[in-house]
Amino acid sequence: MSAPDARALFLFDRDLRLDDHAALAALSSYGEIVPVLAVTGDSYASSARRRSAREAAIDGLATSLAQAGAPLVIRRGSLAATVLGLAREARATAVGWSLAYDAPGLAAQRSLQAELEEAGLTVIATHDAPAVPPEETAAARASDEGLGYRAFAPYLATWRRLDVPPVVARPRFARAHGLRGEAPPASAGPGGAAARAALETYLAGPALGYATARDVPGDGPTARLSVALGLGTLAARTVRASIAARARDPFLLVEERLSLRAFERALAQRDFFLQLAWFFEDAPDAPLQRRMRGFPGAADHPALAVWREGRTGYPFVDAGLRQLAATGWMHPRARLVAASFLCFDLGVDWRVGRDAWDRELEEYDPALAAGNWQWVAGLGADLAQFPRIYNPRKQARAYDPIGSYARRWIAELADRPAAAGAGEPAANRPQLALPLFGDRAYPAPVVDHETAARAYLRRYAAYVRDQTAAPISSP
Ligand SMILES: Cc1cc2nc3c(=O)[nH]c(=O)nc-3n(C[C@H](O)[C@H](O)[C@H](O)COP(=O)(O)OP(=O)(O)OC[C@H]3O[C@@H](n4cnc5c(N)ncnc54)[C@H](O)[C@@H]3O)c2cc1C
Repeated sequence: MSAPDARALFLFDRDLRLDDHAALAALSSYGEIVPVLAVTGDSYASSARRRSAREAAIDGLATSLAQAGAPLVIRRGSLAATVLGLAREARATAVGWSLAYDAPGLAAQRSLQAELEEAGLTVIATHDAPAVPPEETAAARASDEGLGYRAFAPYLATWRRLDVPPVVARPRFARAHGLRGEAPPASAGPGGAAARAALETYLAGPALGYATARDVPGDGPTARLSVALGLGTLAARTVRASIAARARDPFLLVEERLSLRAFERALAQRDFFLQLAWFFEDAPDAPLQRRMRGFPGAADHPALAVWREGRTGYPFVDAGLRQLAATGWMHPRARLVAASFLCFDLGVDWRVGRDAWDRELEEYDPALAAGNWQWVAGLGADLAQFPRIYNPRKQARAYDPIGSYARRWIAELADRPAAAGAGEPAANRPQLALPLFGDRAYPAPVVDHETAARAYLRRYAAYVRDQTAAPISSP
């Protein structure tokens, strides 16, 4: 219950902004807020790019808070002890935060909640990261299981029906609260305002070609929102509302309208994987499809190192992997093809790929990483009867027809003329497979795709047959 002098701590984590903030708004109705950043372990340390993006976002948040007259209190140490100590110093009677969507984050929040409540504090934890909270889509579900969706198509239909507008309430901060903490990192970078401006620029023009850009890496840009959404410098609700506002333009052409719809669908896909992580908490490490949990994926392969380096001999795969190494981001279509190559052509366990990319990616979203990797590996929410094995050669022909993506990221191919077939594996063009340039020669394919894919499907079919024949005794 709110009292005129009630005070609460708000723990920022992956929601580093002030506007359209559901969890801050929920806490504001309790009392005035002391903004806190409790630094515990370092889940950002695995990627240097990620760490500097987070530091820049913290700096941006601290600047916005200082302008609002409420300095961000940064403290380091064990989470419960830090928060309990701060609550005492601030004479706060409540603590609020945005809910996590990864198993370790959720476990940490649950244990913190138990400790705080035992100490007599009120906890107000709110869904903020998804555009539509998991419980809202689950409640609208026809079945009475009370669980989330496991299939995307029906989820999307429900998601589109539910209207969750941006949060307009301004948070009420405790001004000049007098609490001391570490200084924020001095790495001026994009804060909430910059993320919103980038979204508006994208929606003004490039988003109208999104339907092509999401598949064709050499075409226009995709939105490049994953870092901002992962850090929470931008709210998914804001993105959804901005897409809807743009779609109200009466002068849009049909294909532009379809692009905006595809862009909105991508955002729904993010919410879908967040709700999977929320309702199926063991899914980050164990396949969502229970019957596939015993399906063996290799921990290693003689070509694993060349896959990591982008030297598989399949240009579309290699361009993606080299783009990731060079920039910390990979085009979404290339992610599908490069991940499929690891899981099916090399038969390597999806977790090996997820962890390799985790060290390179600037964005951080364990629920999206696990959900997408399982989807590609055919063990997750994509309930197709057989795994969809992408043919890297056909993908290159369809989505990099003149090899512009391959030539952009693969130095050995940079001087090739733009032409049909420029994205083909070297072995298909014998004159290009010759080691004419010593170390600079582009390698021949490390495996034959058709042979590897068929061998995988044989193993898969045998496993599924055995599972179907096995007595139904295990859980
Ligand atoms: C194997 C694999 C691994 C992935 N790992 C990650 C990851 O670790 N972290 C991460 O944030 N995304 C991951 N993705 C999803 C997606 O590829 C990225 O979010 C996207 O490339 C980010 O670029 P963008 O913002 O330009 O995307 P756009 O295509 O412009 O999409 C806009 C936003 O929609 C959401 N979105 C789009 N596609 C997906 C999708 N397939 N799943 C969930 N949300 C989506 C993202 O929030 C994205 O920022 C992965 C996809 C694959 C196939």
